[in-house]
Amino acid sequence: MDNNYPRITLHKGKEISLQRHHPWIFSGAIATKDHLQDGDWVEVYSHKKEYLATGYYAGGSIAVRVVSFKQRPIDATFWEEQIKKAYNYRIKLNLLNENTNAFRLFFGEGDGVPGLIIDYYDGHVVIQAHSWGVFREMDNIAQALKQVLGTNLKSIYNKSAESLSKHHGQEVQNGFLYGDGSEIIVKEHGHQFYVDFVKGQKTGFFIDQRENRNLLAQYAKGKQVLNTFCYTGGFSVYAASAGAALMHSVDSSQAAIDLCNKNMALNGIQNQESFAVDTFEFLKEKKNAYDLIVLDPPAFAKSRDSKHKAIIGYKNLNSLAIKNIKSDGILFTFSCSGVIDKYLFYNTITAAAIEAKRNIRILHYLSQPADHPVSPFFPEGEYLKGMVLWVE
Ligand code: SAH
Repeated sequence: MDNNYPRITLHKGKEISLQRHHPWIFSGAIATKDHLQDGDWVEVYSHKKEYLATGYYAGGSIAVRVVSFKQRPIDATFWEEQIKKAYNYRIKLNLLNENTNAFRLFFGEGDGVPGLIIDYYDGHVVIQAHSWGVFREMDNIAQALKQVLGTNLKSIYNKSAESLSKHHGQEVQNGFLYGDGSEIIVKEHGHQFYVDFVKGQKTGFFIDQRENRNLLAQYAKGKQVLNTFCYTGGFSVYAASAGAALMHSVDSSQAAIDLCNKNMALNGIQNQESFAVDTFEFLKEKKNAYDLIVLDPPAFAKSRDSKHKAIIGYKNLNSLAIKNIKSDGILFTFSCSGVIDKYLFYNTITAAAIEAKRNIRILHYLSQPADHPVSPFFPEGEYLKGMVLWVE
């Protein structure tokens, strides 16, 4: 089928990763290309002129991101199929149930479209386009969401102004594409959370820690717990509800602390304190104060260039926590930097323990939940790594 899309031809041998369905084409793999602008649909061919894939052109070092390995138009039907597949997968996994009504509905490459993130908050849907190619399809995506979600849909909010790196001289504004509603309440494993996707960070809530928060609850009873980088207090609500003897939360942002306090109150938790301070400064003053500590910092590395500096950051943070936690303490530690893979993270934590001169045991290796699916052909999709450590 000829879609009249512009074409790219690859150098000999560069078709192999595409044949394994890895969705990125680096600029160095391209032999010839038609005239292309950022966001244009393009068909990719091998040096033998065989069709390989269809994607959008992005111009950078990752020049093309693939959305289909079958020759087809990228039209309203395409978007409806993609979103239906992603939604049905979550429904079949029972991610929407009487105790939980917030999940990631679409996770970029993991669901077949690089650059598209959609979160579902009890019928309110937040779209983040990370590329111009996806952003230009916003109307088709919104239409597909209406078709697929039907009466479950309450609103669609486009929140792409921050996630789009290039605006091409156009003003990109966040806003509702359908319905409205802002500060809503969602349920996660029976706990309640305010989600403010209009004013909050990213899409408003860190859905990716859902299962790890549940694990924390298993260890929290009777413990003196510190949750650092707490944002809206996800880990704090679980630990306090599970019967923590002391609950302290820390975030450098006062707005985050206000939300954390609000969520604690929403769940009927009174006995807790939260502090709008820097985690490093706070931890330095707290020797032997806690027997359970959560470290869930923002991504210290956003690109390969900052990777090595980020490793030092993770090492220092973890070393400080390991040094100061009570003996027989438990540390939940995470990294959400995509460029730091799990083995590098494990090694960094080992280095931190050596520096802290404490014996540790590894209780769990943690990752991201099923609504953030990872393809074995695209290991880059696994961005959330965690470890639970026993500190002697
Ligand atoms: N654990 C949270 C998500 C963390 S997001 C959850 O489960 O929802 C990272 C948070 O770290 C942000 O809220 C940001 O304000 C905070 N932050 C960034 N740098 C910080 C620092 N040096 N000290 C304390 N908080 C920090």
